Amino acid sequence: MPVRTIRDIVIIGGGASAALIAWNLKRLHQRSCAIIAPTDRPAFGLAYATPSLKNLLNVAASGMSADPDDPGHFVAWMRGNVSAETDPATFVPRPIFGLYLRQLYCAAAPEHIRDTAIACAKADGLYTITLAGGETVTARQVVLACGHFDPARLPGVPPEIDATGRYHHDAWADGVFAGIGADEEVVLIGTGLTAVDVIMRLRENGHRGRITTVSRRGLFPERHAPHATLAAPVFAPGATPATARAYLRAFHTALRGGIEWRAAVDSMRPVLNPLWLALPDVEKRRFRRHLQRRWETRRHRMAPDIADIIDAERRAGTLRVLDGRIDAIVTAGDRLRVVARAGDARLDIEAAHVINCTGPSLDYAKAASPLLRTMLEAGTIVPGFGGAGLRCTPAGALFDRNGVPAHDLHAIGPARLGALFESIAIPEIRQQARDLAALLANARTAP
Ligand SMILES: Cc1cc2nc3c(=O)[nH]c(=O)nc-3n(C[C@H](O)[C@H](O)[C@H](O)COP(=O)(O)OP(=O)(O)OC[C@H]3O[C@@H](n4cnc5c(N)ncnc54)[C@H](O)[C@@H]3O)c2cc1C
Repeated sequence: MPVRTIRDIVIIGGGASAALIAWNLKRLHQRSCAIIAPTDRPAFGLAYATPSLKNLLNVAASGMSADPDDPGHFVAWMRGNVSAETDPATFVPRPIFGLYLRQLYCAAAPEHIRDTAIACAKADGLYTITLAGGETVTARQVVLACGHFDPARLPGVPPEIDATGRYHHDAWADGVFAGIGADEEVVLIGTGLTAVDVIMRLRENGHRGRITTVSRRGLFPERHAPHATLAAPVFAPGATPATARAYLRAFHTALRGGIEWRAAVDSMRPVLNPLWLALPDVEKRRFRRHLQRRWETRRHRMAPDIADIIDAERRAGTLRVLDGRIDAIVTAGDRLRVVARAGDARLDIEAAHVINCTGPSLDYAKAASPLLRTMLEAGTIVPGFGGAGLRCTPAGALFDRNGVPAHDLHAIGPARLGALFESIAIPEIRQQARDLAALLANARTAP
């Protein structure tokens, strides 16, 4: 009978989150782990796998260290490996940040099981993970680092439209840009950072045609600009009633007091999760409905060079920005027609190609993931608040259907949005990775 190998720590996922746990386990605890990921080069994940040097980080290099205890780590890496002149205020191309993560991953050298996990169930104190290739992996502790999923399907867009080769459901899919003629008109659904990435990729590929964006509010992210760093958040948990309205009022009071809005937004970063956790569910829903999008356009800002390009395109009319809610996308001869509503007015916009730029999905209950589906069906995990990520403690312990948090099943990164407000950017993920690595390394697990 073959001997079953039991692994201590298995991480499912192959992006930044998995790489940073592996790195922290090795450097701080001299521990190794196994990573299950279908990619041949773990660490890049969705964000840093872009081949385009025009896709810049939306945080300056000084804010992108992988080590929460050494804020200069990434800048030092840049100076040692890319350019000795690297300014901490630079917005570095994302694929270069991917190489940084990849180097940390390689330094940790975890075991890489190149496959997709399709199920994970616990029996007799051990997890059995089933792989798409048919093998199974046994583990004492499991981390879900599954990250982002394919964008949600837009309502009013029949699946047949994909066969035209003119509707691109996934803006990151290989081959989107190759099929678009240099002078063809393109419509982008959405005006967030995904749309910004796509505009850069199109122009980089020699695209000259007009680009039209359609989104509910027509709001692009704001731009980064130099500002003073505040010593403390403009308001803190406990000092303000836990309602969305009170938070908004406290923020506006600070702005009226003369604090620059970027400084005010950035000052809030360390207290956003405690503020969020203090809100009753009804207030969280209120915040999401009325304030979230406005907050996001200010919090996730564009690098100044990118913002300059977007502004110049808008002035030249080569980029048109429309407000509208999409009703349908239909074929119109050999083109596509986007049907949208702006108030009472109907918009019909025709184009050769339409790209869905609504961004990756974080709704784990709807993700096309056999792993999540089977774990949700079994009640091993449950969806997070408002359909985002998974229900977990702030430290990532996943709750089961009976409301019991697991001591040996954790989530990191986007999956923690089921509990936290901020959990997808590197400043949060690096801290989570360091803390979770300590927990995993010190865990007493039943053999
Ligand atoms: C386009 C974009 C730009 C960003 N820019 C910045 C930035 O400038 N600054 C910043 O701080 N943050 C940025 N972020 C946010 C942040 O860095 C990412 O959220 C972060 O990289 C998440 O990494 P992850 O490993 O959790 O998820 P992902 O990158 O999504 O990786 C998850 C991996 O898990 C794999 N996986 C999923 N399910 C399974 C399974 N069942 N079995 C095996 N493998 C599985 C997937 O194939 C994928 O490779 C950006 C995010 C995006 C999407």
